[in-house]
Amino acid sequence: MKVIKTVQLMQKTAMKLKRKGRRIVLVPTMGYLHNGHLSLIKKARKTAGANGVVVVSIYVNPTQFGPNEDLSRYPRDLKRDLDLIRPLNVDIVFNPSDKEMYPGKEEGLYSTYIVEENLSKNMEGSSRPGHFRGVATVVGKLFNIVMPDAAVFGEKDYQQAAIIKRMVKDFNFPLKIVVSPTVRESDGLAMSSRNSYLNESERKQATALFRAIQYAKNAVSKKGTINANDLKNELKNLIEKEPSGRVDYIEFFDPETLQPVSKVRSGAHLALAVYVGKTRLIDNASL
Ligand code: AMP
Repeated sequence: MKVIKTVQLMQKTAMKLKRKGRRIVLVPTMGYLHNGHLSLIKKARKTAGANGVVVVSIYVNPTQFGPNEDLSRYPRDLKRDLDLIRPLNVDIVFNPSDKEMYPGKEEGLYSTYIVEENLSKNMEGSSRPGHFRGVATVVGKLFNIVMPDAAVFGEKDYQQAAIIKRMVKDFNFPLKIVVSPTVRESDGLAMSSRNSYLNESERKQATALFRAIQYAKNAVSKKGTINANDLKNELKNLIEKEPSGRVDYIEFFDPETLQPVSKVRSGAHLALAVYVGKTRLIDNASL
């Protein structure tokens, strides 16, 4: 397993591999890996095939964090990450510095971003202004640097995956996007690097997101069609019964267009963002 730190060497390596006809599959991550990430890497290994090359990028992208968000305290541990990845037959870890990824940014010279203008409007987009501009930009840059034939993203970040798929179409990136299911802890909590922020009591309360999803699924299967606002209120009550639980948003929407629906039926998608103490968690599911 090679660890590459510079854009130049990554691009040179990718071009060499492509000339040899080797298929490159990329898994972009911000590190502090958990089983959710590892499932994406396993999917990448399968997608790449025996002769293919799996590249995992580990980079905490500053442009997707708002000024009052957790960039400086986001968990980082490269050694731990490399130990977790090594048994999975990964060929390359791309782990660039901020200077490599955003040349001239400190001097105020970096000035080009990718902005998706439709799917990014609501949910994470409105709650975290500028977030998807940072995500689309770094992912577009990673596509130009790693030159993958396919890239694997998690369904955990449903809106993000939808935006990346749109960006790939709109900007003619020559690759396939693979979306992989959410991996959960045994009590249903979606795995996330941010779960490490939770204390013992918050960790228990955090299952409220999964319980809300189960509640909504049950409601839809029992009643057929439900008024979205009514169901939102019921989920909010369920979550805010937890002493540290506070809903940021709950949204029911069309899984393709991400447009909110006023009537919730089977096939509608639910996404939610919840503060548990100071930690902001997200989750989503098809109902
Ligand atoms: P992150 O390191 O949080 O930026 O996530 C990197 C990739 O892993 C993204 O495509 C996420 O959607 C995906 N991911 C994060 N958590 C999970 C999970 N619990 N299950 C599946 N994929 C995940």
